[in-house]
Amino acid sequence: MPFQYGGAATAREIVDSSPVEIVWSFDHRDSLSAAQLTQSPEELSLLGTYSEGAAHQVLVNAYERDRAARQACIDYYGCVCAVCDLRFEECYGELGEGFIHVHHVIPISQLGATYEINPLEDLVPVCPNCHAMLHRRRQRPLSVDELRNLLC
Ligand SMILES: [Zn+2]
Ligand SMILES: [Zn+2]
Repeated sequence: MPFQYGGAATAREIVDSSPVEIVWSFDHRDSLSAAQLTQSPEELSLLGTYSEGAAHQVLVNAYERDRAARQACIDYYGCVCAVCDLRFEECYGELGEGFIHVHHVIPISQLGATYEINPLEDLVPVCPNCHAMLHRRRQRPLSVDELRNLLC
């Protein structure tokens, strides 16, 4: 089945068939920095599909570019879920300080490689629960307003 994976992977086995069969290993979490692991998977998925050689370089570049936009979004909207108003700091104290996901309003896969992200229009801070719910609609994520209206 087709799937998307945003992160580092190693090709363990390549079978020279058509279509080519590749066994991937996703055991490289240790090679990502702690800062990267606090990002949501979609934020790392800027890489899309690249040849093995190019993957690492692309990940770093995309991440650096995205990090500034992510910070600008949080600076503006605050570290609070735009859907349910959750603040992790209020629930978890110091441990929750500064924790939030940032959702791309338009899926990255639909943006061109040279698209410049507008941190205030294209990004929105959400908690991981609401983030998952936004993506429950596969083809096109729900909007923040749509999900807010569904919230019980
Ligand atoms: Zn939320
Ligand atoms: Zn998202």
